Amino acid sequence: MIITKKKDIEKIVEALKGKKTVWLFGCDSCAEQCQTGGRKELEEMSRVLTERGFEVAGSSLPEETCYRQLAMREYRTKEALPKADAVLVLACGAGVRTVADVAEETQPVLPALDSIFLATVERVGRFYEGCSLCGECVLIETGGICPHTECPKGLLNGPCGGVVDGMCEVSPDNECAWVRIYKRLKEQGRLHLMKKITPPKDNSIGVRPRNVLLREAARPIQKKR
Ligand code: SF4
Ligand code: SF4
Repeated sequence: MIITKKKDIEKIVEALKGKKTVWLFGCDSCAEQCQTGGRKELEEMSRVLTERGFEVAGSSLPEETCYRQLAMREYRTKEALPKADAVLVLACGAGVRTVADVAEETQPVLPALDSIFLATVERVGRFYEGCSLCGECVLIETGGICPHTECPKGLLNGPCGGVVDGMCEVSPDNECAWVRIYKRLKEQGRLHLMKKITPPKDNSIGVRPRNVLLREAARPIQKKR
């Protein structure tokens, strides 16, 4: 799940300066769970923008706003959406990009949120980062705990010399990621992996933008309206 946080409303108002009608997009998946872009947040944004003199022409809450087909469905079925002076998206950057691709080039599509990280959901409202999407996963040798993500120094061979009573010297509230890896590998009878030297990551794998085309699942791309 993608974690998002709300942008400062003043930044949003500044970006909307000179626009009269605004259409809102939320996302009924990640942003809804983050309490940044669900039904409640759309209503709140609508109220705030109205108070600030904008006219909210309507809103959309797709199941997942990063699905192009779902964004297209909104543009095809909501008459006022293509006519709005601007679209404000309460979703992650992928949602903003998706809506922007579907909208006419002349219609500004703006983010209302900042996208922060890819999260594991511990429970409702409790998220933590466990993967940085590096493209070269080391979890196969680290007991499912990512040192690239969970060690503040990103050490692929650890621990560093700063462990204090098992805790991290950089984030003293957190147990050292490498101590956790050690404990887990020990439980699994795979401690020999601690002696293995992991080479630096091949950063060329992570050159952006990245994309995937699953040939068997590929369908013709639907044309823009
Ligand atoms: S090594 Fe870490 S950051 Fe890279 S893919 Fe695996 S979990 Fe994600
Ligand atoms: S104490 Fe552990 S988690 Fe913290 S920086 Fe050093 S190796 Fe990384």
